[in-house]
Amino acid sequence: MRAMPTSSPYAMVSVDEACAAILVRAAPLGTERVSILVAAGRVLAADVIADGPLPPGPRSAVDGYAVRAADRGDRALLGEELIAGPEHSIDVGAGQAVRIMTGAPMPTGADAVVMVEDTAESDRHVQIHLEATLGSNVHRPGLDIETGQLVVEAGAVIGPSEIGLLATIGVADVPVYRRPRVAILATGDELVEPWETPPPGCIRDSNRYALMAAVSEAGADVAWQGIARDRDDDLTSKVQNALAAADVLITSGGVSMGTRDLIKPLLEHLGTVHFGRVNFKPGKPLTFATVGDKRVFGLPGFPVSSLVTFEVFVRAAILTMAGRRDVRRPRIEVELDHELRPDPSRLEYHRAVVGWRDGRLTARSTGAQGSSRLLSMRGANALLVLRASDQVLPAGTRVTALLTGALQ
Ligand code: AMP
Ligand code: MG
Repeated sequence: MRAMPTSSPYAMVSVDEACAAILVRAAPLGTERVSILVAAGRVLAADVIADGPLPPGPRSAVDGYAVRAADRGDRALLGEELIAGPEHSIDVGAGQAVRIMTGAPMPTGADAVVMVEDTAESDRHVQIHLEATLGSNVHRPGLDIETGQLVVEAGAVIGPSEIGLLATIGVADVPVYRRPRVAILATGDELVEPWETPPPGCIRDSNRYALMAAVSEAGADVAWQGIARDRDDDLTSKVQNALAAADVLITSGGVSMGTRDLIKPLLEHLGTVHFGRVNFKPGKPLTFATVGDKRVFGLPGFPVSSLVTFEVFVRAAILTMAGRRDVRRPRIEVELDHELRPDPSRLEYHRAVVGWRDGRLTARSTGAQGSSRLLSMRGANALLVLRASDQVLPAGTRVTALLTGALQ
C-alpha cells in the first residue's frame, strides 16, 4: 500500500504566477482557410484590408432626381431613369434632371439628388421645392470603406458584422486560427454515467459533461473524452490516448493528497509539472504540466473547483491557443449587496450575481460556497475576488469582480 503523504512537495504559487506560467506556454496553433459560410465564431488569422473604395463610385442615397446643384427652378426631365444595377451612361446637362433610385450610380453631370418628397413631376418637368446643395443625398466613393482601410483585424472573432464586411469587400474565404482540440478525462472509481443509478458509494460523473460544455463555449473542440479508474495502468493508457488526440488535456480529480490521487506522479513521469498548488479557493490542488507540446491541466475533482479553475486558468489558455487577443474576463468594481465572510486563510473566488441596483453595480452571493455545491455556480455571472481575512465585509464594501457572464 502507498503511504499517505502529509505535506505536498509542490510550492504554493499565487493565482497570478499560475496564470503567467500557463500563458507563457500558450500560443496560437496554426491556421486554415475557411469560407465565410462557416467562419462565424472563428478567429481571424490575418488583417483584412480593403483593396478598393466602398461605394466604388458615387451613388444616390435616396429615391429622387439627380440634378446640378448650381441650377435653380424647374428642371427638364430626361426620358430615362436610373435604378440600382449596372451603370448606364447618361449625362445630366444644365437645367436637366433624371429620375434616380436609391443605390443607383450617379449620372455624369449631376452632383446632387433631390428627394422625391421635395419635388413634383408634371409633363416632362420637375418642380423642386427644396433645392439641393452640392453632394446632397449622394454617397461619395469611399464613404463607407476607404481603399487600404483595415476592415477586420487579426485576432478578431468573426461575427455577423465581420462576415458582412468580408462579403462586401469581396473576401469569400479567410485564414482563421485552428480550433484547439481538447481531451477531457474524468478520473475516479466512484464515477458512473449520468443516466445510470449509482451503486452505494458511487456518484454520477458531472465534471466531464460540465467541462465539455465549458470547452465548447470557449471555442474549442472536444476531441476525446472518457473516464479513467484510479489505477496506474488505466490512467496511463487513457492519458496517452487523450494526449494523442488533442492539443490540451483536461483531467478532473486525482490531484490532491490521497493514495489514489495519481495524476501528479503520472504527469511528472510523462512530462514537466509547472505547478501543483495554487493559493486560491476553490481549487488549491490545480496542476499544470506540459507533455511534449501538449498542455495538461489537472483540475480538482470537486465539481465547483473543477469549473472555477477552468474559468480562471484554462479558459484563457484555450482562447490564446485559438488566436484570441482579449483572453481575460473584464474586472469591475462592485458593491456588496449584503455582508460576506471571506475565507480566513486563502484568497477566494466567490460566485455571485452582479447587476445594477439603484444606479449602482452590486453583487449578491449565490449562497453556500462549498466546492461540491454546484448550485453555487448556477446563475452566477461573476467571481468576486475576496482576499483572505477574518473580518466580515459589511454590505456596501467595494470588491473586485471578474465578469464571467452578462450583467443580470
Ligand atoms: P478527488 O480530487 O478525485 O479526490 O475528488 C474530490 C471529490 O470530487 C470527490 O468527492 C469526488 O467524488 C468528486 N469528483 C471527482 N470527480 C468527479 C466528477 N467527474 N464528477 C463529479 N464529482 C467528482
Ligand atoms: Mg478521485
